[in-house]
Amino acid sequence: MANAVHRIGVFTSGGDAPGMNAVIRSVVRTSIHMGIECVGIRRGYNGLVHGDFIPLDFDSVSGLSRRGGTMLYSARSTDFKTEEGQEKAVATCKLLGLDGVVGIGGDGTFRGLLELSRRGIAVVGVPGTIDNDIACSTYTIGFDTACNTALESIDKLRDTMQSHERCSVVEVMGRHAGHLALYVGVACGATCVLVPERELDFERDVIEPIRKSRLGGRTHFMVIVAEGVGSAYDVAKKITEATALDTRVTVLGHVQRGGAPTARDRVAATYMGYEAVRLLAEGKTNRVVCVQGDTYVDYDINEALEMKKGLDEQTYTVMRALTGVE
Ligand code: ATP
Repeated sequence: MANAVHRIGVFTSGGDAPGMNAVIRSVVRTSIHMGIECVGIRRGYNGLVHGDFIPLDFDSVSGLSRRGGTMLYSARSTDFKTEEGQEKAVATCKLLGLDGVVGIGGDGTFRGLLELSRRGIAVVGVPGTIDNDIACSTYTIGFDTACNTALESIDKLRDTMQSHERCSVVEVMGRHAGHLALYVGVACGATCVLVPERELDFERDVIEPIRKSRLGGRTHFMVIVAEGVGSAYDVAKKITEATALDTRVTVLGHVQRGGAPTARDRVAATYMGYEAVRLLAEGKTNRVVCVQGDTYVDYDINEALEMKKGLDEQTYTVMRALTGVE
């Protein structure tokens, strides 16, 4: 069957995530395999608005899977949020002969794709964010690498906290979601984990686990705070006031966005890039490629944006059991 698209654009947008490069590679190689040309759009939607692009061939994406960051750069584009910007973006697509576009990013990126689609461009979104906060997909590209990066730092912090018998308060990313904090907390054996999805009872959720841990013989403690909860410095201050423990705050910050992607992220990125091109080639549009368990599926973008993602209840229950929260 003939392809529904002949030349497509690919871009990365919003916060960068390890594995975005692997999606780009997969989109380019899949396109070539299917006889479709591929153009890289640089700097997110800004590249479409201002005509900033680079043709991509087989060689240009060689060795890209293992590289962190994104070779196409990423940006948050205010220009594209205007009617005029969107018209310019469509004009760029028409000038370059792009009949389809793959956008890699989060919810905001998918909202932008809807605007392109309303103006006649076929679009497919790929969820790339370390926050794992895309409701239609149980997994987003970059999450596993970010978890492992945070874990490596926390393991090192634990060594020094143990030597000095201190309480470490570590702030991890995640924007408004606690997925990263929860997984990192379970993986590092945290004393307690604070997430924005649950109302905080400081005595029950922080002081009591520290007390139980102390009674169990521990003299150092690891408190994980999702950035959506608020400042780790405030949490540390309250711990010191309540327990007289010597606390130290570490805000992991943007280090969590970098690094070579893990095998899980490379494989997910490769699958999703393939699926995105397949959907466009089959004439599908307005879709987000997702993973549900082990199965790759796709959703209508409007439907996907209306879905709400809760915390992984099973993991949350296990975390509470192991940290002794009643
Ligand atoms: P992250 O999860 O890392 O923040 P994101 O894709 O949600 O990723 P945003 O900054 O929200 O990041 O969105 C990326 C870009 O998508 C914006 O800078 C903007 O150009 C475009 N965008 C976002 N929302 C809209 C919208 N409602 N209409 C048109 N374009 C939008």
